[in-house]
Amino acid sequence: MVFVPKRVLIEQEALDYALGAKLYAHFLKQDVELKIIKSHNRVTAIPGKTPQESYFEAKQTLVVGVRKSEKFQTCKPSAHYQLPLATSCPGKCEYCYLQTNLGKKPYVRIYVNLDEILAKAQEYIEARKPEITVFEGAATSDPLPVEYLTGNLAKVITYFGQQEFGRFRLVTKFTDVDSLLKVAHQGHTTFRFSINSPYVINTFEHNTPSMKERIIAAGKIAGANYPLGFIIGPIIFYEKWQEEYEVMLEELSKVLPDSQRNLTFELITHRFTKRAKTNILSLYPKTKLDMDEQKRQLKYGQFGYTKYVYPKDVLGDFKEFFTKQIEEKFPGAKISYFV
Ligand code: SF4
Repeated sequence: MVFVPKRVLIEQEALDYALGAKLYAHFLKQDVELKIIKSHNRVTAIPGKTPQESYFEAKQTLVVGVRKSEKFQTCKPSAHYQLPLATSCPGKCEYCYLQTNLGKKPYVRIYVNLDEILAKAQEYIEARKPEITVFEGAATSDPLPVEYLTGNLAKVITYFGQQEFGRFRLVTKFTDVDSLLKVAHQGHTTFRFSINSPYVINTFEHNTPSMKERIIAAGKIAGANYPLGFIIGPIIFYEKWQEEYEVMLEELSKVLPDSQRNLTFELITHRFTKRAKTNILSLYPKTKLDMDEQKRQLKYGQFGYTKYVYPKDVLGDFKEFFTKQIEEKFPGAKISYFV
């Protein structure tokens, strides 16, 4: 599943770069609204009278720009820095954390000046060497659905393959991995797939690949010897959760070679804040996501805001189930955390 936009806005300056010119030529031949804009930070051409309209129109809009900012954001605790490759994603997961971060119009943005971005990464690597510097490629986006347009990930993975002191990691729910299988990664790029049960994907993760497709893609990445991990999240409590999550893990174990080493699992149970609940309800008023505060316990977060998490008994059942299943089906795998 790749991103086919309805509307493409290209920043004037992006046309001076080979990728920008190539994308312009590509979209001229497609059936899309195509416009040149002055700045990728002032995007006004996305229609929408209500929050819902704005959101759905933005999710079908591609903005092509030149990344200017000098500094990379830090990315604790999973990496040292974010590598800015793209923003947002065409998926429409009801609980997407980007909805709270990217404002009312989370359009998909890609950058054409990758060489400059990598030159900046090099400076960060040099400054910390001989320590290893880790960059996260999916902090504000899912970079895979736009890879067929940019080829940026392949270049980034090749770049990190040549770095003694730099490492790269990314997480995705998407599956268009074929162009990355032969890239010389040298084990310096870690792929993490975000997976979930069919019920959760079909009910909440609109416009994303199915569980089966994600598992097949993960098998391909494992076959190409990339370091690999899985995020299972949000883990949701529903009638058939045990049955479906067990099948998911069973299917997954079948596509991974026995020799798969250093496999990691990150387990994230569903939680929400008041702000996220308001956002979700404004975009998906009929959501089936259970956000009844009465059925949750309060957890005080690091930054002073409170989250509603599942009660202790449910969390205990989840933890016991996943720990046992992972031990049985993926001997030697590590559970990085359970929250
Ligand atoms: Fe958000 Fe990831 Fe879903 Fe895209 S795939 S909408 S980034 S949660």
